[in-house]
Amino acid sequence: MAIVMSETLPFNYELIFSARRRSVQLAIVQGQLKIRAPTGTSAEFLQQLLIQKQDWVLKHLQTSKVTIKPSWVNRTQILISGELLAFSWILATKGQVIVNEQGVQVQVPMRVDIARRDRYIEQQIQHYLTNLAEVFFQKQVQQQAALMAVTPTAVRIGSWRRRWGCCDSRGVVGFNWRLLQAPDWVARYVVIHELSHLRYMNHSAAFWQFVKTYYPEYLAAQRWLKTHQSQLF
Ligand SMILES: [Zn+2]
Repeated sequence: MAIVMSETLPFNYELIFSARRRSVQLAIVQGQLKIRAPTGTSAEFLQQLLIQKQDWVLKHLQTSKVTIKPSWVNRTQILISGELLAFSWILATKGQVIVNEQGVQVQVPMRVDIARRDRYIEQQIQHYLTNLAEVFFQKQVQQQAALMAVTPTAVRIGSWRRRWGCCDSRGVVGFNWRLLQAPDWVARYVVIHELSHLRYMNHSAAFWQFVKTYYPEYLAAQRWLKTHQSQLF
C-alpha cells in the first residue's frame, strides 16, 4: 500500500479507500497512521481532518514508539545480513568504517565531541549500510522485476523510521537501508512486495496471491521483520 508523505503534516500515513465504508477511520497500527476512507473522499477533506486530529495522532504515534535501543558507544554487536557481528569503535585521526572477519569497527576522529560520538557512529553506520543497500536493491529489483514482468522506473533507498519499503504511482520503489541488516531472503520479500504493487496498488487478496506466486514463504519473512523490528529501528 502506498504511504502518503504529507508536506504539511509532521507524519506520514497509509491511505486505504473502500467502497463499503461510510465514514473515515483513523488508527495507529504498528507505529503507523492508517486511514480508512470511503472511496471518493477528497484530499482536501482528509487534509482538514488530519489537521484537526493532529494532536491525537502525534500523541499516539509517540506512545507506540517505546522501544529501548542501546547506545552505539555501548554496543558490542551489530546485525548485518541477518548475522550478528562483533561491533567496536576506536578513536582515530580519521573517521571510517572497517569491516573484516573480526567484525565491524567504526573509527571516530578525536575532533568529534564526546557528546556527539554516539550520533557520529550511527551516521557512519547508516552511510555505510545505505551504500551497500543501493547496490543490493538495484540488483534485486532488476532480477525480480524481470521474473515478475513489471517495470519499476527507479529504485530509492530511504531512511524511514516506520516502514520497510514503498512504491508510488509513478513506479518508483523504495527500500529502507535497515533492511540490509535483515537476511537476504527477508529483504527479497520486501522487494517482491513492493514490485507487486506495480500490479496491484492495494493489499487485496489478488495482491497477496501475486506476492505468493513469487514468494511462497512470505509469512515467514513478515514474521522475521516483526520479531526483529525493534533491533533494526
Ligand atoms: Zn504494501
